[in-house]
Amino acid sequence: MSPLEVTRRYFEKAADVLDFDRRTRVQLWTPTREVKVEITVERDNGDIDTFIGYRIQHDSSRGPMKGGLRYHPSVDPEEVGSLASLMTWKTAVVNVPFGGAKGGVNCDPQQLSRRELEMITRKLVDGLHDVIGPAADIPAPDVNTNAQVMAWIMDQYSKYKGFTPAIVTGKPVELHGSLGREAATGRGVVMALLELLRTLKRPIAGARVVVQGFGNVGSWAAHFAAEQGAKVVAVSNHVSATCNPSGLDIAALRTHHLVDGRPVRDFPGGEPIERDEVLAADCDILIPAALGDAINKDNMREIRASVIVEGANGPVTAEADDYLAKKGVTILPDIYANAGGVTVSYFEWVQNIQQFKWSEEHVNAELQGYMSRAYRDLLMFRERHKVDFRTAAFALALQRVEHATKQRGVL
Ligand code: NAD
Repeated sequence: MSPLEVTRRYFEKAADVLDFDRRTRVQLWTPTREVKVEITVERDNGDIDTFIGYRIQHDSSRGPMKGGLRYHPSVDPEEVGSLASLMTWKTAVVNVPFGGAKGGVNCDPQQLSRRELEMITRKLVDGLHDVIGPAADIPAPDVNTNAQVMAWIMDQYSKYKGFTPAIVTGKPVELHGSLGREAATGRGVVMALLELLRTLKRPIAGARVVVQGFGNVGSWAAHFAAEQGAKVVAVSNHVSATCNPSGLDIAALRTHHLVDGRPVRDFPGGEPIERDEVLAADCDILIPAALGDAINKDNMREIRASVIVEGANGPVTAEADDYLAKKGVTILPDIYANAGGVTVSYFEWVQNIQQFKWSEEHVNAELQGYMSRAYRDLLMFRERHKVDFRTAAFALALQRVEHATKQRGVL
C-alpha cells in the first residue's frame, strides 16, 4: 500500500464509525489544491540542475493550511498527498485553528551545498508565493529542513509581499521564531506518552525506551523521556545505532552526535549495533521518529515493545498496525503523538501576528494544555466508539472538519 492508500484506509475506517455518506467522504478527502513547481538552479560546479517541488493544500475549512516542507529523494505527490491529509486531521485532533498542507522538494540534501540549498529554497518560494501566505498556507520544518531554511523562506517571501514573519514557522528564535518550537514535537511526544501511561497505570520511571531516528523529533523525545526517569536503552539514526541496557546518557549522546557531528555508533557510553536492530530491541516503549513505513510486514513480528508512540509521520504500515493491535500493542498515532510541533507552530504564528513574544514557560504550559485536552477528547471517543486510538483520533478529527465544512455552508 502506498502512504496515501494507508491514510485513506484510516480515513475510511473513521468515516464508517461516524456513518458518513459517500458525498461527505469525497469532499473531506479531496485536496483543495496541488501545486508542482520547477526549481532550476546553478550547481557549485557550474552545471544546471532541475528539481521538482510540491505543495499540496488539503483542507482549509478550520483555518489557514499548515504543514511542513521535506527535502528528501523519496518526496513525490503520493507521499506529500498523504502527509498533507494527515496535517488536516492532526490540526483538528489538537484543535488548533488550522487546516492541513504539506510540501517538499525531491532532492538529496546530503549532496547539496549550503548555497545550493538556499537557491532551491528561494526558487521554491518564487514558485509558491502566490498560493501561500499567513492567512492561506504556512509552511514549517520537516525532514532535512530546519530554522535556517525557514529564515530563507521568510526572507524570499518578504521580497514579494513586504516583511511577513507569519508566513512560516520554525524560524530561528532571533528572527521571530518561538521559544520552545525546536523541542516542541519531541516534548509533545513525551507528554502524549505520559498521558497514555497514566491511563495504563504504568510508571515512566525505569521504563525502557527505544528511539528510532535521532534528528529533531527523536533526540528531543529521548531527552524528555530520560528527564522523566525512563531508561533510553537504544537509539539509531539513518547510518548506525547504539545501545546500553542500563540507559544511555542522552545529554552526552546529543553532544556527541548533534553538536560534535560524530557517528551514533561511536558513542562511548553505548555498544554499537546494526541500525535496524533497534526496532527489535527488548524494551517497553518504542518511539519511531525517523521516516514513514519503518514498522512493516517484514519486521512487525520482531517488535517487543507493548507501547508505540509515533514520533514520525506514518511509521507503522497498515499491515503492521493490524498485526500489532491483535498482539495487544497500544499505538499512539502520529496525528496526536507528534502534534506538539504544529501546536507550537500555531503559537509562533500567533506571536508573529500579535508582535508579542511569549516566554518559554508560557509556550510549554500552553502546549501541555493542548496535548492534555486532545488526549481527553481522544479517550472519550475511544471509549464511546470502542475503537483503537488511531481510529478514535481520525474520527475525532473527521468530525471536527466535517462540522466546520458544514457550518461554512459548502456542504
Ligand atoms: P530530522 O531530519 O531532524 O531527523 C530525522 C532522523 O531520522 C535523522 O536522525 C535521520 O538520520 C534518521 N533516520 C532516517 N532514516 C532512518 C532509518 N532508516 N533508521 C533510523 N534513523 C533514520 O527530521 P525530524 O524533523 O526529526 O522528523 C522526523 C519525523 O518526524 C518525520 O516523519 C517527520 O515528518 C515527523 N515530524 C516532524 C516534526 C517536526 O517538528 N520536525 C513534527 C511532526 C512530525
